Amino acid sequence: MGIRDLRRIFKGIVINPVAPDRVDYYDPGYLVIEGERIARLTLDDPQSEFPGADFRDMNEKVILPGFVDTHVHLPQFAIMGVGKGQLLTWLNTCTYPEETRFADPQYAEKISTAFFDELIANGTTTAVIYCSIHEHATDIAFTAARAKGVRAFIGKTMMDRNSPSELQEDSQDSIEASMRLFERWDNSDGGRLRYIFTPRYAASCSMSLMQRVGEIARATGAFVQSHLAENIDEVEWVHELFPGKASYAAVYDDAGVLGPRTLMAHCIHLSAKEIDLLAERAVKVAFCPYSNRALHSGTMPYRKLREAGISISLGTDIAGAPTLSMFEQMREAIRATGMTPAEALYLATLAGAAALGLSDRIGNFVPGKDADFLAVAVKPRATAEEALSTLGLHCNKNWVAEVYVRGNLMYF
Ligand SMILES: [Zn+2]
Repeated sequence: MGIRDLRRIFKGIVINPVAPDRVDYYDPGYLVIEGERIARLTLDDPQSEFPGADFRDMNEKVILPGFVDTHVHLPQFAIMGVGKGQLLTWLNTCTYPEETRFADPQYAEKISTAFFDELIANGTTTAVIYCSIHEHATDIAFTAARAKGVRAFIGKTMMDRNSPSELQEDSQDSIEASMRLFERWDNSDGGRLRYIFTPRYAASCSMSLMQRVGEIARATGAFVQSHLAENIDEVEWVHELFPGKASYAAVYDDAGVLGPRTLMAHCIHLSAKEIDLLAERAVKVAFCPYSNRALHSGTMPYRKLREAGISISLGTDIAGAPTLSMFEQMREAIRATGMTPAEALYLATLAGAAALGLSDRIGNFVPGKDADFLAVAVKPRATAEEALSTLGLHCNKNWVAEVYVRGNLMYF
């Protein structure tokens, strides 16, 4: 019998995020999986109803939906925890030299494989990923994602100015390579792999390059990702580079890249007008609190963005953050904003799914969704709510016991 026909019941403490201010606790709960999909989540033991189903008692482990990391740089995997200084120094001294190494396909393959293994070991089953500028390295990243079965939005970084010579592209070449990747990979592997156009940030992209991306996105409905207002020096530099523009966000808006399928990372140093503009364009924001602390970038005005109605989800932004653990991003989000562990869990799961237009497929335990989940060993504990608090405040990768991608056990 193949996995597609297999019916399984997992018993554990199931924590199901359903809204920013609501999680449902099942203590114990029974998660019924049919093949690759969630069939049911219930407080009542369903074994008599499903005779012949495999039954697995997880021994009080906590079962959570797979994490959605909405901002991560694959080619920085090998330099997590390395480097010092703020954003612009760090890019030049640590990041760019490492990304240059992805011109070598063997190196790209080695790091891509290790990256996806580590992503899954952390319980992340969907990710939005920046590659290096190299087309071939981006193909390799897609191939590695497909081999693991994870959902991934992957883009070749675009840089046509203010970059080291090894990483600076001709504008037309950058567009053409991105289009080839889009045509090869977008919606492949059953729709689980998506291409995302990836102009790195306004300082390393010409207005004409960004305008072309905007045109393509409008014509094809493609996803776009970039960085916005991460660091004070970066913001000042962008103002100098685009002297006629009203603001940093207005640079992207004038290029036509702000829309509901655009993810902007960081969004720390924004005016009220810029926040309104992002809300008006329905831009999705990736909040990367650990990276923001590690690079001394500042704290994203989370409540202001939320009150403006902007969709916010969590991203690791390695190697800005020194870990792929979404638990550690939750902890940093709680510390930076005072949000509850429940809200942090929502940001790490269902909010990311919604930002990607996937709330009907992933993000929590609703029947019919993909059976992407992890089991975490949390002890000692008293209640499910306390277990969630422990997960939000103290947990890291070492606590992850098992990870399932569409019902397949991928890490244990
Ligand atoms: Zn980033």
